[in-house]
Amino acid sequence: MPTLLVKNGIVATASEAFQADIQAVDGVITKIASSIDEPADRVVNAEGKIVVPGGIDGHTHFEMPSMGTTTADDFKTGTISAAAGGITSILDFVLPQRGESMRAALQKWQDKASPKVLIDYGFHMTCRENGDEAVKEIKEVIAAGVTSFKAYTTYRSQGLMLEDGAILAVMKEVSSNGGLLAVHAENNGIIEHNIETFKKEGKLSADYHPLAKPPIAEGEAVQRMILFAKSTGANLYIVHLSTRMGREFVRDAQKGGWPIFAETCPHYLVFNDLVYKRSDAPRFVMSPPLKSEEDRLALWDGIIEGDIRTIGSDHADFSSEQKEMGKDDFTLIPNGVPGTEVIMPVLFTEGFSKKRISINRFVQVTSTNAAKAYNLYPRKGTIAVGSDADMVIIDPSYKARLTADFLHAKIDYSIYENYVTEGYPIMTISRGDIIVEENQLVATEGRGRFLPRKPYLSNKSPLFQ
Ligand SMILES: [Zn+2]
Repeated sequence: MPTLLVKNGIVATASEAFQADIQAVDGVITKIASSIDEPADRVVNAEGKIVVPGGIDGHTHFEMPSMGTTTADDFKTGTISAAAGGITSILDFVLPQRGESMRAALQKWQDKASPKVLIDYGFHMTCRENGDEAVKEIKEVIAAGVTSFKAYTTYRSQGLMLEDGAILAVMKEVSSNGGLLAVHAENNGIIEHNIETFKKEGKLSADYHPLAKPPIAEGEAVQRMILFAKSTGANLYIVHLSTRMGREFVRDAQKGGWPIFAETCPHYLVFNDLVYKRSDAPRFVMSPPLKSEEDRLALWDGIIEGDIRTIGSDHADFSSEQKEMGKDDFTLIPNGVPGTEVIMPVLFTEGFSKKRISINRFVQVTSTNAAKAYNLYPRKGTIAVGSDADMVIIDPSYKARLTADFLHAKIDYSIYENYVTEGYPIMTISRGDIIVEENQLVATEGRGRFLPRKPYLSNKSPLFQ
C-alpha cells in the first residue's frame, strides 16, 4: 500500500492551524502528529509552507454545449487546470437537451468525464423542463448519487428557464428527498426587455452586456428564490452571487435561520465593471456580469462576515475565436470565463495575504463549506484521520503571474494576465497521489473517481446545523 508523509508543515483546517506531520496510507489520512518518523514511499518536506484540504470547486462547465459552441476545456484539460490551482474535487453540471431524460443525460456526462478526469468528480442535474416533466426523475437521479439540482430563472430564449411554478415544484420535490436546489437567479423579464431595447437602438457592443443585466435583475430574483425556499422549507443555494443587493437578502435570510447558501466566484472578487470599457471586454462577458466596485467589496464583506460560504469558479471558458462570434452583437458572445485554477490563489492572495480573512476562513470557503453543502464531508473538505488524503501545499511567499502560459486552461489568453499572486499552491495531492508539483502535472487522465452522494439526513444541510 503506497504511503506518503508530509512533514513540518502548518496544517490548517476550518477551525485550527498547527504544526504537524501527516501520514497517508492507500489514499486515506491515517495519522496526524507533531512528529511522525515511520518510513514512507514518499516524504515531502513542507517546512515554511501551509497544508490545507484540497479545494472543492462545486461549479464547473467542462465540455458544455452553449450558445452554438462548446466550452473550451473538456474534463481532461479542465481538471488539469483545476488540479494545478489546488482543486481536488469538482462538481459539474449535467445539462439534458430539451426533452431528453435526466438519466440519459447523466450517462452522457459520465461517459464524457470518467475516461478523462484527473481528480474526483460529482455532478449536479439541471432541471429545464416545465410542467409535469419538471419533477419526474428527481428521485431516481438522487438514488444515482446526484443530490443537487440546478434551475435557471432566466435564459427563456435558450429554453433553459424554469417558470416560477415549476421552481416551486422542484424545490418541494428536491427538499423532500434530501437534496439541494441551486439557482441561477436573475430576473428574465428585466433582461429580455433591456436586450430588446438595446437591439432596437443598435446598442450591440460588449459594454451593453452589463447594462442589460443590472443589479436589480439579480436582487429581485434572489429575493424571490429566498421567499420560495422559505415557503417550501427547501435548502437553497444561490450560485455566482454578484451584487450587494443579493448578498443582503441572503444575509438577512440566514439571520432568520433559513438554510440559504451563497456562492460567489473569483472574478467577482477581483474585477469590476470598468473592464467592459476595455478593448478585450468580450473576454469578461459572463452572466451575471461584473458589477460595481461597491458590489465587489460587498461580496468580500460577505466572505469576511461568513454569509457567502463558498467559492465556485463557474468555469466556462471560450477561446478568442469563440468570443469573436459576438463581435457585432453582444448577445451572441458565448458567456463565461475560466476560473477553476485561480480560486485558491485568488482567495489566498486577496483574502489571507491581504489580511481580510484568517487561514481558517480560507479553508472554509475553498473546501470545507462546499464539502458540507454537497454532503461530501468529512470524506472531503478537511484534514483528519479517515478523510481522503486530498491536500494542497501552499507556499505563502510564492509570487506567480497568472499569464496564459502559466495557467493550464485550454484557451489562448488569461483574464488574469497582469495579476501577481502572493502565495501559490506548489503541490496538489489527491487521495495520497502527488498530482501536481511546481505547476507541473504528474498524473494520468481517468484517475479521478466519481463521488456518489447521499441525501441529507435531516431537513437542513450540515452547514446550517
Ligand atoms: Zn454556471
